[in-house]
Amino acid sequence: MSSTPAASNFIRTIIEGDLASGKHKSIVTRFPPEPNGYLHVGHAKSICLNFGLAQDYTGKCNLRFDDTNPEKESEEYALSIQEDVRWLGFQWNGEVRWASDYFDALYDFAVELINKGLAYVDELTPEQMREYRGTLTQPGKNSPYRDRTVAENLDQFTRMRAGEFPDGAKILRAKIDMGSPNMNMRDPAIYRIRRAHHIRTGDKWCIYPMYDYTHCISDALEGITHSICTLEFEDHRPLYDWVLDNITIPCHPRQYEFSRLELHYTITSKRKLLQLVNEKHVSGWDDPRMPTISGMRRRGYTPEGIREFARRIGVSKSENSVDMAIMEGAIREDMELRAPRVMAIINPLKVTITNADGAQSREADFHPNIPALGKRVVPFGKEIWIEADDFSANPPSGWQRLTVGGEVRLRYSYVMRCDGVVKDAAGNVVELRCSIDADTLGKNPQGRKVKGVIHWLSCAVALPAEIRLYDRLFTVPEPDADKDVDFCKYLNPASLTVVRGWVEACVKDAVPETRYQFERMGYFVADRRDHQPGGKLVFNRTVTLKDSWAKEQG
Ligand code: ATP
Ligand code: MG
Repeated sequence: MSSTPAASNFIRTIIEGDLASGKHKSIVTRFPPEPNGYLHVGHAKSICLNFGLAQDYTGKCNLRFDDTNPEKESEEYALSIQEDVRWLGFQWNGEVRWASDYFDALYDFAVELINKGLAYVDELTPEQMREYRGTLTQPGKNSPYRDRTVAENLDQFTRMRAGEFPDGAKILRAKIDMGSPNMNMRDPAIYRIRRAHHIRTGDKWCIYPMYDYTHCISDALEGITHSICTLEFEDHRPLYDWVLDNITIPCHPRQYEFSRLELHYTITSKRKLLQLVNEKHVSGWDDPRMPTISGMRRRGYTPEGIREFARRIGVSKSENSVDMAIMEGAIREDMELRAPRVMAIINPLKVTITNADGAQSREADFHPNIPALGKRVVPFGKEIWIEADDFSANPPSGWQRLTVGGEVRLRYSYVMRCDGVVKDAAGNVVELRCSIDADTLGKNPQGRKVKGVIHWLSCAVALPAEIRLYDRLFTVPEPDADKDVDFCKYLNPASLTVVRGWVEACVKDAVPETRYQFERMGYFVADRRDHQPGGKLVFNRTVTLKDSWAKEQG
């Protein structure tokens, strides 16, 4: 599956052109997350793009943390991001890099801009700043501090760094054009005063560079050739180029923008995912319902499946909201190729077999097409569990599963007839009384056809398991489309159902993250956190066998 070649896209066309013309001998990309949350499926797209390009064109891809907002960043996030990138199957070039590695250089470049008369220290209040900035339709106006002398600006900036002014009292701004139609070019802030402890530099700095200023310089210092980001940065590109054009630096990477991934029935914003975690709507960043990479991993998604999803959605500049079915399809197809198949009962109904004496057990393959996965014996028994939904006392027409007087094939075993039911005081069917046709083990019954095949487990040997059935986290395709409505309003109350079920004894020692197909029920994974081999067994439903949503919706 992972051998499928990447489809061409406009970025690949640009890279191929640059390599053919000799503009670049080889390419260097980077993935630049801010360590202020766990990565989500949108980041997975960006990772597959940046690392994938480096792989395909024998270039390099750096992992660089954009750590310029100390209050929101943490070591936990930085570690989780590295783990997620590796789990997806990628390795960055050399050491992990940090924008904070460049704080000294960034400071020196700011001094260079001041010396060239291209940056100044401003001290308008935030309200004044907003007022002076203008609007999309009205130009801004120059700050009264804009024409300070170079000497005065150098003195002010040095004192900002030395901690002489309170937080927010002054900022360093690039001196570009307050009349520019592009708001990003109206003398953007490049340094602010913020007394915050930084995860890497501690309390060394009380001024921090702004993202736009930091990003382009970090790219240039690393010799990035193609700096790929999402479309909302298109309007920032003139600033990216302005900074690099006005400092002394030998490299000028080119920025290219692609459209961000939006996935139906979920959200792709770290801030909103953090809200879900903080408000305890989910059990944590790696809750299997979360669209985070760690959540998808815990849900049982495979790196190969996620990479295939990224390949299928492609890369373009048009806004695209992708249906979850595309992700689920990629995961399902990948699991189909690799997951051993066993039987499990999610909603058990007991069956007593009245003529089980002398019945035999059969061997079954773990996968019809992968003999290397081996076989096991599926033990028969006098009492068995079947799926309650596989029996109906009043079946609709065309019913091929079990009903009173009807027959089904027990998977890998005999044909079984239901002779009667046992009901509780309330009239619910609590047990079936059935008999097997002893002449049907591994062969068709004489003189009649039995169409239905159901899965089952011998009660004597089946193991109890906690089975977690996941559904979509939201009830609407675009939960955050309306800015005036809290997206939490659209949380799906049925996104998690926990049941006590039964599994085949052969899965007893499965280690966490072992994946199975539970026949007819879907793909499942042994939970990374709670499943204990030989102890408490916990399985998460990764995805159903068919796209049940498409069916329900017609
Ligand atoms: P969020 O809005 O969720 O906080 P972000 O863009 O602020 O995301 P970063 O850590 O800055 O998060 O992102 C790292 C890289 O991942 C950036 O290059 C960014 O463009 C890319 N990225 C983030 N979200 C998406 C998305 N939904 N689709 C594609 N790429 C994305
Ligand atoms: Mg960001």
